[in-house]
Amino acid sequence: MNVVKIVTVVGLSAALLFVGSCKPKAEASSEMNPTTFGKTADGKQALLYVLKNKSGMQAAITNYGATLVSLKTPDRQGKFADVILGYDNVPGYENGKAYFGGTVGRYANRIGKSQFTLDGTTYKLAVNDGANSLHGGLKGFNKVFWDAKLLSPTSLQLHYLSKDGEEGYPGNLSVLVTYTLTDNNELKIDYLATTDKDTVLNLTNHAYFNLTGDPKNDVLQHQLTLYASRFTPIDSTLIPTGEIRSVKNTPLDFTTDTAIGARINQDDEQLKLAKGYDHNFVIDRSSDGSVKAAEVYEPTSGRVLDVYTDQPGIQFYTGNFLNGTEKGKGGQAYNYRTAFCLETQHFPDSPNKPDFPSTELKPGQQYRSTTVYKFSAR
Ligand code: BGC
Repeated sequence: MNVVKIVTVVGLSAALLFVGSCKPKAEASSEMNPTTFGKTADGKQALLYVLKNKSGMQAAITNYGATLVSLKTPDRQGKFADVILGYDNVPGYENGKAYFGGTVGRYANRIGKSQFTLDGTTYKLAVNDGANSLHGGLKGFNKVFWDAKLLSPTSLQLHYLSKDGEEGYPGNLSVLVTYTLTDNNELKIDYLATTDKDTVLNLTNHAYFNLTGDPKNDVLQHQLTLYASRFTPIDSTLIPTGEIRSVKNTPLDFTTDTAIGARINQDDEQLKLAKGYDHNFVIDRSSDGSVKAAEVYEPTSGRVLDVYTDQPGIQFYTGNFLNGTEKGKGGQAYNYRTAFCLETQHFPDSPNKPDFPSTELKPGQQYRSTTVYKFSAR
């Protein structure tokens, strides 16, 4: 099954769809949008854009890494809190190692031994995770400046041109990411990419959620449903073995709602390899298109997160590598398992796994994908 959304287009590229660029407004206004977000080490100014919907939900995004910086959603009393981890300004994102809220590419997740062969050519990628390449390499899409343009008070479009050879990947890849906040309390992320040479890609957002709104709490009481009856088991370097295995009778079975922490410390080979959950789940679907992949309920606040995607997989990661050394918003140390990620994606290492859905993109084709994070409370 190849569920990369490919539509052949004539003479249309993602770059052409990005019209103009947005400069910070010079005129004084009580609500400047964007505002400044600090400078990177080389002196480049980052900007922060805030999207607001009618019910008061807010999403803040910086043009550095096309990164989701904060997401304020209501609890069951209507009280808003920021439900994602991150930093107060751009130096945090520049120095950080956790990919908080970033747009991840060119290839989200891992590529085994940092290489793959396409059309008979072997491409050697930047190595940054043992022998493997993780989340695009040493300087992935989360560590570069994007051109940003506010389309409306609730929609921001970002564009990045990843050059042929960047981090070892072939082809000039033009990528558009559009964040839209709907009046239904959904954050919609649309991806659109085109290339001038055969390449591979896998795009996702790496938001770390804590639905209590206070990342001093761990996420072990959050109740998770994953609409996925299979997963891709991993080896000791977290690369899929190639097998697609049923979750039945394993601690990876979240097909009915279960606390994240209920079985996380079980004596299970897969959990031990990843130090918790850090696995790609195969989303149950009968056809292409958007389906609900996950639902998370946080009992103290009542917050609910529903995740919809057209991708074949979703990486469920429980912040097993957070250990307090990442200091985030307000100087707060982010400890072990104080957040979870639900990264909609193609399977890890697909370029080396011919039986996995293909991640190839060719000139003249369009890669399109949409992820929706929908918030409510009960
Ligand atoms: C990966 C983890 C990795 C983390 C980095 C997740 O997507 O699955 O293994 O440590 O990203 O923040």
